[in-house]
Amino acid sequence: MTEEARVFNPVEAEVEEVPVATKEPGLAKDVHEALLPTESVLSLDVAAYVQDFNARVIGAYEKGVGSQELPADVGVARSLIPPGTAALRDFSYLSPEIPEFIADKCVGCMTCVTECPDTAILAKAIPASRLEGDPEFDGFHWARTRKYFEVPARKGLEGALFGIFIDPTKCKGCAECVEVCAALGYDALRMLRKGEGTLERYRRAFNFFRHVGPTPAEYVNEKSLADMMLAEESALLYVGGAGSCMGCGEGTALRMMVAATGFAYGPEGMAIVAATGCNTVYCSTYPYNPFLVPWT
Ligand code: SF4
Ligand code: SF4
Repeated sequence: MTEEARVFNPVEAEVEEVPVATKEPGLAKDVHEALLPTESVLSLDVAAYVQDFNARVIGAYEKGVGSQELPADVGVARSLIPPGTAALRDFSYLSPEIPEFIADKCVGCMTCVTECPDTAILAKAIPASRLEGDPEFDGFHWARTRKYFEVPARKGLEGALFGIFIDPTKCKGCAECVEVCAALGYDALRMLRKGEGTLERYRRAFNFFRHVGPTPAEYVNEKSLADMMLAEESALLYVGGAGSCMGCGEGTALRMMVAATGFAYGPEGMAIVAATGCNTVYCSTYPYNPFLVPWT
């Protein structure tokens, strides 16, 4: 008679409890402490965790099978979401419309960038010679404003062109940016119906925005919150991709708070403790975290 394959049954299995950090009766306290592990029994390799999370966990949620197929693990047990994973979220097909920039009406006030709750409209001021030599430079995205071109030129700096770019993967089509620009009397933005090729054109433009490099510090007025939004590394610490409603006012306030604090103290000098409220929910719709700073 052949022996049947034994199947592991956790209910029937003999369970041996492994005492961790428990002192044996009679053992001297100092001897016991010397025997304790130097690392947590649930220690986590953070770099490996982030890499695995971004590929495996985000990948599964992008395919729509995350909650069915992913096993529970130590990261889930601790509710750990790596920073900025919401940058990988794609809202391109959420709205039928997207803002269009009309460069010759723009004055570079940055109000649209400050107002957007989703970090979907961003700006840069780049010295003209750095742009005009680039084969992918597209003049329709860049304005010659008094603030970034004429005023620096008067101070002996090269004039910078001011560019506005929309990230089609983060824009929810709320039109807050268009309304605020119109309310200021500039009308440099309007909503455009998405058609064939629109998303591809916006993606190409946004890739150019990413590769052109940061706004040089001499074009950023440190006393202006709007200008702080030009300082990408220190101020753009909320990447968008959160689960907030279109045009969420709390999102705008949160981004401004994070930008001002990050600009003043640096990204390493801040952390957020969110007591409760909508933001604790829409900023942690697993596995998407829009913050690049620690928060709980
Ligand atoms: S609000 Fe209008 S004028 Fe101001 S930066 Fe934005 S597009 Fe330009
Ligand atoms: S339409 Fe709304 S989400 Fe899109 S860029 Fe403007 S403010 Fe941001």
